[in-house]
Amino acid sequence: LENLIVFTTRPETLFAVQYVALALDHPIVQKYCEEMPDLKEFIQKSDQLPNDTKEGFQLPNIKAVNPLTKEEVPIFAAPYVVSSYGSAPSAVMGCPGHDNRDFEFWQTNCPGEHIKTCIAPFFDDASKVTEQERQRIIDTVPFTSTDGVLTKECGEHSGVLTAVARKSIMGMLNSEGLSKSVVRYKIRDWLISRQRYWGTPIPIIHCDNCGPVPVPESDLPVKLPELEGLDTKGNPLSTIDEFVNVACPSCGSPAKRETDTMDTFIDSSWYYFRFLDPKNTSKPFDREIASKNMPVDIYIGGVEHAILHLLYSRFIAKFLGSINAWSDPAGIFEPFKKLVTQGMVQGKTYVDPDSGKFLKPDELTFVNDSPDGNTVIIKSNGKVPVVSYEKMSKSKYNGADPNECILRHGPDATRAHILFQSPIADALNWDESKIVGIERWLQKVLHLTKNILSLEKDLAISKDYKTPTDLNDAEVKFHNDFQRFLKSITESFEVNLSLNTVISDYMKLTNILESALKKGEVRNEMIVQNLQKLVTVIYPAVPSISEEAAEMINSQMEWNQYRWPEVERTTESKFKKFQIVVNGRVKFMYTADKNFLKLGRDAVIETLMNLPEGRMYLMNKKIKKFVMKFNVISFLFHK
Ligand SMILES: [Zn+2]
Repeated sequence: LENLIVFTTRPETLFAVQYVALALDHPIVQKYCEEMPDLKEFIQKSDQLPNDTKEGFQLPNIKAVNPLTKEEVPIFAAPYVVSSYGSAPSAVMGCPGHDNRDFEFWQTNCPGEHIKTCIAPFFDDASKVTEQERQRIIDTVPFTSTDGVLTKECGEHSGVLTAVARKSIMGMLNSEGLSKSVVRYKIRDWLISRQRYWGTPIPIIHCDNCGPVPVPESDLPVKLPELEGLDTKGNPLSTIDEFVNVACPSCGSPAKRETDTMDTFIDSSWYYFRFLDPKNTSKPFDREIASKNMPVDIYIGGVEHAILHLLYSRFIAKFLGSINAWSDPAGIFEPFKKLVTQGMVQGKTYVDPDSGKFLKPDELTFVNDSPDGNTVIIKSNGKVPVVSYEKMSKSKYNGADPNECILRHGPDATRAHILFQSPIADALNWDESKIVGIERWLQKVLHLTKNILSLEKDLAISKDYKTPTDLNDAEVKFHNDFQRFLKSITESFEVNLSLNTVISDYMKLTNILESALKKGEVRNEMIVQNLQKLVTVIYPAVPSISEEAAEMINSQMEWNQYRWPEVERTTESKFKKFQIVVNGRVKFMYTADKNFLKLGRDAVIETLMNLPEGRMYLMNKKIKKFVMKFNVISFLFHK
């Protein structure tokens, strides 16, 4: 009996293992090969098979024992098993019932044989899957979802969810020494050398006697030589003799300096460390300074930052952590807490439907002379161009200059317009005409500030003004609505960077204030208090407008315009509307203290009887049944 190491990512499928497949270079296969000419032939021919071939060669007189079920299963030599997966000889287990490739392999090599399963789909009561759909999923073989529940054939594990079974099965086998959990990183090579001038020199000297020798630390850093223009073909460094020809640091004989430079990804992988300590002349950066300030709180960039650069930066940051160049209390040495990849601004693009050519704005006629008018005609042929939004480019004549927009509408309106047009990660279709909505809102903020401040002479609230506790219904609604949007704005900045909804929430807050001002049901102090909050929270997006409004408020009272308002608890009205139901029909409503029902049955009935409506509907009748619950007070009278 020999040990055979098999790899799997799904130990919970062990119950349904029906075979083991070995790579062709596995020692067991190699051993058989010496004695079996037809296996040898199979291996030789396998070169011509496609990578995903289902061919297999069953090894005679040998079986593998399942460590969990102690069942014996056949062993195949199979070209689909990639050689030396990891460091150990390569072998995988086959579960035809739970894996597509294993299923096809089994069909090819053992056609017609029973297929075992050990995982069934799991439907919780909340899942809205129709009975028919459920049956279809249950009947599907192989069942390849990684989520499910172990079947009754799985002994003590039956009825357990796969995610749980995975751990408990591994725990059991690990403790018996029959398995070992490993983490496998799918790491690929990163070739960092480039045949290019513009990069960090690789500090290596090549010597015929000693081979590659590192540049001594005292000679570091190797600096790029000055160049008179970059007009050579290939890497200019290799043509600069003073740079290339050096003495070997080890034996002193003539040697050549490495002329490849490092991939610029190397530099972009750690610049955020250097930025923390840019004037350090003895080290890349100071350990204390880096440990105090890292990781980066939020990293904003184009989507290209989310792929290779992110991978490399994390790798380098973790490497720097592993050599103790910085410390991370969390112990994970991740360089960025949060990454946000913003979308691209796309320009309106006009194409001639006949020639397919991109059109310049001066080749088009815009109705009303507005470059953003909806009706556009091609001057030369009178046709309507094809309009689309595409990445801005000179050849498409679809660029928009933000400076021009700022000159026309101001920086605040331009900024808010950009934020408002689409979620931060999505493409933004640039349409300057839509900025009017933003401009209208900004005007409204200033008008509103002026109108609120002139509500009464010398209207002012103290710096420590607190939301009163005796709110009327209108004030409760006003307060709660305001808190709701304040909360949404705060979370949008702090949690999800949903900056487009921030702008729409600003507009909603402005409307809440405006309507409260119009209706006059909210006390002036509360309106002023919440105006101050609005002026503060719009600052990040529209600072000039915020300052302008703040200045008006400052002229009348003292307050701290730069302190972000805390989101207060929403409150409930002290009052409640009760429905008075007589013989099953609502007869009238009564607004009372919300604890009215706590007065008790007799007091409630007496209070109602004394109302004008009470005298009309309730007097001189004999009560058969009386119920009071929530906001309903119900009488059932004898006929
Ligand atoms: Zn040497």
